[in-house]
Amino acid sequence: MSYWKPEIETMDPKDLRQMQSEKLVKLVKYVYDRSPFYKKRFDEFGIKPEDIKSIDDIGKLPFTVKQDLRDTYPNGMFCVKNTDVVRYHASSGTTGKPTVVGYTQNDLDAWAESLARGMTAIGLGQDDIIQVSYGYGLFTGGLGVHYGSEKIGATTLPAGSGNTERQITLMKDLDVTAICCTPSYFSYLIEAADHMGCSIKDETKLKIGIFGAEPWSESLRKRIEERSGIKAYDVFGTSELSGPLFIECEAQEGMHVWGDMFLFEILDAETNEPVPDGVVGELVVTTLIKEALPLIRYRVGDLASLDTSVCKCGRTHPRLMRLKGRSDDMVIVRGINVFPGQVEYVLVKFPEVSPHFMIVLDRDGELDSMTVQVELVDMASDKLDDYHKLKARLEHELKSILNLHAEVEFVAPGTIPRSEGKAKRVTDKRQF
Ligand SMILES: [Zn+2]
Repeated sequence: MSYWKPEIETMDPKDLRQMQSEKLVKLVKYVYDRSPFYKKRFDEFGIKPEDIKSIDDIGKLPFTVKQDLRDTYPNGMFCVKNTDVVRYHASSGTTGKPTVVGYTQNDLDAWAESLARGMTAIGLGQDDIIQVSYGYGLFTGGLGVHYGSEKIGATTLPAGSGNTERQITLMKDLDVTAICCTPSYFSYLIEAADHMGCSIKDETKLKIGIFGAEPWSESLRKRIEERSGIKAYDVFGTSELSGPLFIECEAQEGMHVWGDMFLFEILDAETNEPVPDGVVGELVVTTLIKEALPLIRYRVGDLASLDTSVCKCGRTHPRLMRLKGRSDDMVIVRGINVFPGQVEYVLVKFPEVSPHFMIVLDRDGELDSMTVQVELVDMASDKLDDYHKLKARLEHELKSILNLHAEVEFVAPGTIPRSEGKAKRVTDKRQF
């Protein structure tokens, strides 16, 4: 069993709590002094930094939500000068405006450290060759695990997403031992490799996969492990918290969330009171050491549970169990967050279609497919040529907002079911 930072990873839970308390007290003062957003929010709640004396006081602090990041776009919640920001990432937003996340050098170092601990915990090290098949760019996946991989001294192959044949060729020829991507993309890779006459199980050195950015089940894990002969590990993180951050250990019983960096709460969504270990609730995270964009009690939007008992691996930090889904309307398609509101935002710009639509998610082979059923306002058979052009324009516009291809399918006026309450916008036929 190897550890990246054994003195931290196996520290006494009491000492960890004490450390968290000290960091929280410092953090609250830090954001209050540096961010007009937090000062205003705390003042509205009648909270002064000195009211927070330990993590037992966390319940006194107001929540933050994604909407706060949107309202303060692009950097109204930042706590450092722009010149101290060394990198930006951005994720797609509901109305076309992205959510911007900034990092100081210390933030980037802590991010890589978090992944270095997780990668070490699943047996990766400097002898490994790690293929990073998450997208590089504004999306945090690629660069996130890239720096974690470099930190542990592994050889990093920044393959990025796409170009599947080349991915398989390089995996085989460079003796790649580990891959990071979405579980659906890896399932697709297995299939594609078979078509190329290359068995990942028998003809490559691949032994470990780090899969995340979309929810996946224990049954998919089993299928992947059987078909490819590797060990498949879950990873969790969101762009607002940095990016991919926490990986399971070899026990495969939850992802270790590093308590010296983050404070995790699982709350009853109705009462906002903490729920006991093992009970599913809403995930709320406080970033204890982030400098550029610290988040206080951030409602991530995921439903999850925690296990705070000491793990078989000896690590004492809490474990986040597999996510149970989203508490809001967001769906994850090919690793990308999609909000029905984004589709609506596009459709309302086109007078030829009604604002009623249905997103249909399915699996095309092993890959997610997304179809948007759109009602035409006027369905006349002599306008077929116009419909082709309209379809292309809609698909182009959707792609620019969603960052992924969605097929547009026209349906007759009045076809999409209407609802008096909350509209059902998504039909998910995928099986995880
Ligand atoms: Zn463990």
